[in-house]
Amino acid sequence: MSRKEYRRLLPLLEPVKLAFGETLYESQSQIREVYFPNDCFVSMLTTVDDDKAAEVGLIGSEGMIGIPMALGVAVSPFRAVVQGEGTAMRMRTADFRRHFSTSAALQRQVFLFTHLLMIQIAQTAACNRFHVVTQRMARWLLMTHDRVNSSEFRITQEFLALMLGVRRVGVSVAMCALRDRKVISYRRGTIRILDQAGLVAAACSCYKTVKDTYSREQARKGNSRPAQHK
Ligand SMILES: [Zn+2]
Repeated sequence: MSRKEYRRLLPLLEPVKLAFGETLYESQSQIREVYFPNDCFVSMLTTVDDDKAAEVGLIGSEGMIGIPMALGVAVSPFRAVVQGEGTAMRMRTADFRRHFSTSAALQRQVFLFTHLLMIQIAQTAACNRFHVVTQRMARWLLMTHDRVNSSEFRITQEFLALMLGVRRVGVSVAMCALRDRKVISYRRGTIRILDQAGLVAAACSCYKTVKDTYSREQARKGNSRPAQHK
């Protein structure tokens, strides 16, 4: 998006701080605002049988929360929960709709991101079916690492179990396996990535597939968001 375009959007964007665990949308709730993460990131969770949920997508500064609005739907199919606290730019849906319909640049950005998010969701569905918990956990840690820009972040095993849609004991076993390979350490709720290349080797191919597609498509479109929106 050009600087000029971004300046046109700026008055409609409200900077907000989002806290860990904050729910932006409940599943099937009305979307009243869309969010453009700066340094926070948000999990999209799908619920099953009313009492189970699993993460199907992870969105950070590369994207937007509230994609259904761009497709003419004002209801969120997912629960959107802040997983990495930080800041975002928030826009009211009425403003988004008005601006979106007249801005080719914004449309290009949002459609590209929608395409990439679909790839991520599809890959996650296949990943959950074919890959074991240790590989999936390694993938999840790498995806999180890419969005926090830090090799250390706080996470509980309960939360990881929820994100991966597995029982806590499965998380413990996978974490021990990654610790034994010396690619991560885990102490008092803090994960530290010790060996990123080793963690990539421990992860399933889904991590690289999605990441490479993101890089390739964004490069192909000559995508460059202003500084806050890498
Ligand atoms: Zn996988």
